[in-house]
Amino acid sequence: MRAMVLRRPNTPLEAADVAIPEGEVVLRVECCAVCRTDLHVVDGELPNPRLPLIPGHQIVGRDVKTGARLGVPWLGWTCGKCRYCLTGRENLCDFARFTGYTLDGGYAEYVAADTRYCFPIPEAYSPEEAAPLLCAGLIGYRAYRMTGDARRIGFYGFGSSAQIFAQVAKADGREVYAFTRDGDTAVQAHARAMGAVWAGGSGERAPEELDAAIIFAPAGLLVVTALTHVAKGGVVVCAGIHMSDIPSFPYSLLWGERVVRSVANLTRQDGVDFFERLRTLRIETQRKVYALKDANDALNDLRSGAFTGTAIIEVTGRPE
Ligand SMILES: [Zn+2]
Ligand SMILES: [Zn+2]
Repeated sequence: MRAMVLRRPNTPLEAADVAIPEGEVVLRVECCAVCRTDLHVVDGELPNPRLPLIPGHQIVGRDVKTGARLGVPWLGWTCGKCRYCLTGRENLCDFARFTGYTLDGGYAEYVAADTRYCFPIPEAYSPEEAAPLLCAGLIGYRAYRMTGDARRIGFYGFGSSAQIFAQVAKADGREVYAFTRDGDTAVQAHARAMGAVWAGGSGERAPEELDAAIIFAPAGLLVVTALTHVAKGGVVVCAGIHMSDIPSFPYSLLWGERVVRSVANLTRQDGVDFFERLRTLRIETQRKVYALKDANDALNDLRSGAFTGTAIIEVTGRPE
């Protein structure tokens, strides 16, 4: 099968012809959405990836045996026995395996998966529409729920996950304040179109005191910025797997029972809850489609912020 393969971190993916994987279930990949985590893996910012590796963990495909359409997320396997697995926190499993990181992923024509960790794709969504839900959606939902009942939520970085949760928040009667790179008016316009009540640069003052913040961009400085915007008792949720160092800051920014926390991975229950939430809410996403052979372009464009929304790697269904 055709696949895009990472041989060594910090090198481009190579187009390769590799054996079709074997597993309990094998899916013919329809498309795979690109996540910033893919970039962290390729750029060597996450330790000990499987090598060679096929990246990609927001996969929509069809079971080659049954034809059923399934979504394959980041969490690919857990041990079921460690203290985290036994206490409903399989997202923290000491032995977890992750799709497109320690397991081969979806930048390929086929992927093997453990169906216990896969999700059925809602009928109302095409493969391209569904793919961003599988990480930007699922892990974003975990981050979103960590904001509790916050009414005014700051989003720092407005990419794949933020465009989904601007819509969820609006439907939930909350207000999203979107902070982008200073001067990035295209992304600010996109944020407003997706439901943000305000959008501006991260160097700007928030127009209202925020009840909570979610940091989507991988810049540690934004944690400090968000703390200056969040009211007493508010939480700053770091949604990404990797971030540059957080600069030191005065304790007074944390004082007043403000909380900084991270969100790691997902549990299967997060997925069940998120897809349940979508039964009454139709998510629209802005997408840019790339052919499988152009996966490096998708990664480079994500790195440079060359598109708004989500990059989708189309594997089947569209002529190249
Ligand atoms: Zn475990
Ligand atoms: Zn991801």
